[in-house]
Amino acid sequence: MQKALKPGQRLGIMGGTFNPVHLGHLRAAEEIAESLKLDQIYFMPSARPPHKSPNPLVGYWHRLEMLKLAVSDRPGFWASDLENHLPTPSYTVNTVRAFKKAWSARTGIFFLVGLDSFMTLTGWHQYRELLNLASFVVFGRAGIEPSFDDMRAMLRRDVDPKVKWNSKTETFTAPNIKPIYFRPGGKLAISSTDLRQRLEAGASVRYLVPEPVRVYIEKNGLYRPDNRPE
Ligand code: ATP
Ligand code: MG
Repeated sequence: MQKALKPGQRLGIMGGTFNPVHLGHLRAAEEIAESLKLDQIYFMPSARPPHKSPNPLVGYWHRLEMLKLAVSDRPGFWASDLENHLPTPSYTVNTVRAFKKAWSARTGIFFLVGLDSFMTLTGWHQYRELLNLASFVVFGRAGIEPSFDDMRAMLRRDVDPKVKWNSKTETFTAPNIKPIYFRPGGKLAISSTDLRQRLEAGASVRYLVPEPVRVYIEKNGLYRPDNRPE
């Protein structure tokens, strides 16, 4: 794992398929890093996503390489290949456990996730343990439902009826879980699905992804109908 952290530092993990990474991912991470004063954020592409297999899903190494290019000029942001070293399918709970093992117990671990992904929580392997291992930071996505009320209802139904919203700290709390942050944020209505559709149609993705990522996609002919991967 890259770069030793000093005890007491705050570390973020952002999981996803990143098929491909885009400016919506990076801007969300930037805003959370700023507001929660995170020292480092690890972007972690799923080696084999347990839930969905978007079509086409380009190979793991391409997705990791694009992430490396995307974060190379931002100190404190890293592309992590940790999930490639863990058993598949890539369960988030195993990833967070591996992180906790690698870092000092005094390190604060925050798991960054968009509200659309967080709403699928009950389908996540050992999700109650997971909420105990890391503090989740959930952010809204521009133009995408669900809402804050949907999130609160889900938490009360599927996690604990005693879940409370604390508007001062902007967290949901309950006895046996770490605080769950919620940030409405989400200014950039960009999705990888939309990018794949554009690329498949031979359209431009300039200004939707970091320029080195756009060049990489073009050079390798990714997401084109005549270059079906895997
Ligand atoms: P796909 O359309 O293939 O699902 P995606 O754009 O949703 O791709 P993912 O790799 O699924 O990207 O997302 C990884 C994480 O980033 C998820 O938690 C997701 O909610 C979040 N995310 C994705 N796009 C944005 C965006 N534009 N703004 C904020 N968060 C985002
Ligand atoms: Mg998604």
